Amino acid sequence: MKFALAIHGGAGASPKLNYDEQKTHMDWLVRQGGKMLQDGAAAMDTVIEMVKELEQSGLYFAGKGASPNTNGDYELDASVMDGTCLAAGGVASMQGFVHPVEAARHVMADTPHVMLAGKGASAFAGSRQLQSVDDPESYYVGKTGHTVHEDSLHGTVGAVALDSRGRLAAATSTSGVLNKMLGRVGDTPVIGAGTWADDRVAVSCTGHGEYFMRVCAAHDVAARMNYGSETLPEAARNTLDRVAAIGGDGGLIAVSRTGQVVMPFNSKGMKCAAISSQHAATAHVFDRAEDWI
Ligand code: ASP
Repeated sequence: MKFALAIHGGAGASPKLNYDEQKTHMDWLVRQGGKMLQDGAAAMDTVIEMVKELEQSGLYFAGKGASPNTNGDYELDASVMDGTCLAAGGVASMQGFVHPVEAARHVMADTPHVMLAGKGASAFAGSRQLQSVDDPESYYVGKTGHTVHEDSLHGTVGAVALDSRGRLAAATSTSGVLNKMLGRVGDTPVIGAGTWADDRVAVSCTGHGEYFMRVCAAHDVAARMNYGSETLPEAARNTLDRVAAIGGDGGLIAVSRTGQVVMPFNSKGMKCAAISSQHAATAHVFDRAEDWI
């Protein structure tokens, strides 16, 4: 039985900070996801479970570890995509809920739309009885401590998976870049920019979202494979080079239908982990083990 899974906790990593806790957490989590896939779980269910745990851990700039915008508000973005049928859902600038990624999945499954934003997203999440946050000020107190460091001004979480039936799925969730303007939306909830899945590849991006949006980064990886016959490592690297060429930095995780996993980044580090039916779990932050499977 073939399966593969990769997760990330954001490309905003500084060599001056210690990420042992995040590394241990991701190593544990990716093993849980590996077990789910081994037991026959669907790729979509697995990426949702991975991102929910990353959101609620408070260890990353997403979900419970969210950072506020310049207004002091917490506006969260998330998206999901099902590679089997190109179904997708996203929420942008959503306030007051524990799991933006769950709301994104409901947008995909329960509405004729792909993205809901602002008050509409929050009202929709409420209508689905998703777990709400009563007191944002005291809820969003992630263990990151929102360390303001020049090398770690942003963070995101994401997951990509290939399941035993050959299905691919991707999910991404974030509070965006630190000190973002009120209403600012980055690449994370935008299908094709921060998240993509089709029948060949699933991709979740992290980094300076404005640049990832301008090159449609997640879809660019897929397009390079589909139309340009690039291998997954080539496509991922070439997409990041385009991001870098216009001044952006970050990284991405991707898994192909053959079970190959890549986790490249052009930032100083990226919190990430992976496991597959062929390879034992690995978690790292600064090692460039991008073509490890
Ligand atoms: N891409 C996210 C954004 O721009 C931030 C990140 O990945 O760190 O909102």
